[in-house]
Amino acid sequence: MPSPSPRHLGLQKLHPLRGYACMAHILKGWFLQFTASFIQVYEGFLENLHIWWSDIWEAAQKSSICTLYKENLYKIIFQWYHTPDVLHRLFPAVDPICWRCGKQRGTLEHVFWYWPIIQSYWDRVHKLLQDETQQQLTLDPLNHLLGLPLTGLPKLTSKLIAHILVAARTRIPTR
Ligand SMILES: [Zn+2]
Repeated sequence: MPSPSPRHLGLQKLHPLRGYACMAHILKGWFLQFTASFIQVYEGFLENLHIWWSDIWEAAQKSSICTLYKENLYKIIFQWYHTPDVLHRLFPAVDPICWRCGKQRGTLEHVFWYWPIIQSYWDRVHKLLQDETQQQLTLDPLNHLLGLPLTGLPKLTSKLIAHILVAARTRIPTR
């Protein structure tokens, strides 16, 4: 049976907020439907991603009221950033080597997590999180990069961490 479309659900007749909620419901269905293909791309980088996939989606929706910040997170989750590796797969003439270090293949995980300078950037962000919250936290790409909320923390602490990480993530794609 085909997925319901916004038109089939009569979204054009709904209040905008209600329409947004319905769209979010439809998109979540698609998101979970294509789970396997997205997880496969991250295989070897993020362990047990399938367990957290639904939570990552829920958290992404609530990550910020700013669409630019949300877009940044969705583009990381769905691997939409045009890294050298992605560009090479689309246009074979494009060099797949990372344009920042010029040494390794420019995959999303390299550009956003493994590149030595980005590792040092994440170390500093992590130190800031620990200093500001006075909590012992784990540096994990599931939380820091994909926005999976840290558990077992007071609500305000979690919110502070989420805001810092939103700011940290959006700085990475800028040159
Ligand atoms: Zn590099």
